[in-house]
Amino acid sequence: MLLDKEIVRLVGMNEKALMLLSEPDRVIHFRLRRHLPAEYGVGFPVQVYVVYHSAAKGPPCKGGIRMASDVTLEETIQLAETMTYKSALMNLPFGGGKAAIVADSQLPPEAKEVLVRGFAHEIRYELVSGNYVPAPDLGTSPREMAVIFGETHIRESVTGKPVGIGGLPGREEATGYGVAVVAERAARKFLGREISDVSVGVQGFGNVGSWACTFLAERGAKILAVTDRGGGTMRREGIDMEELKKYEKEHGSVDGYSGKHLSNQELLGLDVDLLIPAAIGGVITKENAGNIKAKLIIEGANAPVTREADEILAQKGVTLVPDILANAGGVVASYDEWRKGKSGTRTKREETYATIKETLLDVFEEVLKYSSKEKISLRKASLALAATRLLDTMEGRGWV
Ligand code: NAD
Repeated sequence: MLLDKEIVRLVGMNEKALMLLSEPDRVIHFRLRRHLPAEYGVGFPVQVYVVYHSAAKGPPCKGGIRMASDVTLEETIQLAETMTYKSALMNLPFGGGKAAIVADSQLPPEAKEVLVRGFAHEIRYELVSGNYVPAPDLGTSPREMAVIFGETHIRESVTGKPVGIGGLPGREEATGYGVAVVAERAARKFLGREISDVSVGVQGFGNVGSWACTFLAERGAKILAVTDRGGGTMRREGIDMEELKKYEKEHGSVDGYSGKHLSNQELLGLDVDLLIPAAIGGVITKENAGNIKAKLIIEGANAPVTREADEILAQKGVTLVPDILANAGGVVASYDEWRKGKSGTRTKREETYATIKETLLDVFEEVLKYSSKEKISLRKASLALAATRLLDTMEGRGWV
């Protein structure tokens, strides 16, 4: 559970509300009986989880579909819980959900399509009723969201779709854009420097990592090192993003771009000003937190830093901007896409950027104030604000 005793006390959370938030509202588990050709190496049957952590602010419950061979039910529940607090923190009328398809994130699109079509078929009622509105997450992309739309024929049943079928211009890069906007603001506040004077290390070069790098580089930040699941690369004078993107497309990884290999552990301990873990969860732990040299961490991924590591980092004077604030650009844009799916209105890319920037920076200021008033970390302040909004909503609904 993300809320600890201190937050519960600060928020004045009552027992009923706490009980509702301490377990998921609903867990759906099923198995996909799809036979894929042996060369894809997909086991049979494929396990699938759909979790609604809390529908206090929904329905819908909102959260991405993760496709990964090591994703578990426990992790899916934690990710859905993260979505409950993220949406609440951003003042969105969404509950927190998440889905997981236990299969390799690197499968080719045609294999993913078979699995996602099966997924949409099995939970059709949840999708067409608006109980669950998915989006891309690790291992899924707009293409898989298009498959879901192809099954439901309802535009607001899924976000993160390609623009041509009602997707929102700017949604694809929304999370990375938000990470960059927050990084710029946090660098000024906590490092006392403009982002153009900041060196950066990024773990993950998928949707979130690559777009965060792009928008940071655009703002003049020096991207010193990048890794993905294959390893990584480093260049003292800074990495050219267009070149790196081209290299990654050709080689399937950023590993070795500069002629040198950099491991993921080396990246985390690199002497940079700002570190952005934007790949998987649980990468900064009590074992390696002591090696971190960056003074600022922005959580691009969900839950990349464990609670034990949080404490070690705080003792070292490292500031951490938590996932539910830093990577919320995606769900903020998804809200717009969902709304506009219903009304049929269109948006320009610049409007999406402006909405993300305004929403994230307003909440950032609120979190800063709360954290300095209560003398607590940005993570605790973000969770406490989100929990306050959830409590208000549950009281308003007469639930608690
Ligand atoms: P993605 O599948 O597009 O990219 C994942 C990246 O992580 C790839 O570069 C991959 O090589 C790398 N990676 C995978 N395993 C790794 C490992 N063991 N070590 C190092 N790198 C590894 O996924 P994404 O959509 O960019 O999501 C990344 C993270 O951001 C996830 O934690 C996700 O939950 C979170 N997130 C995503 C969004 C979104 O809009 N896509 C929104 C909020 C949060």
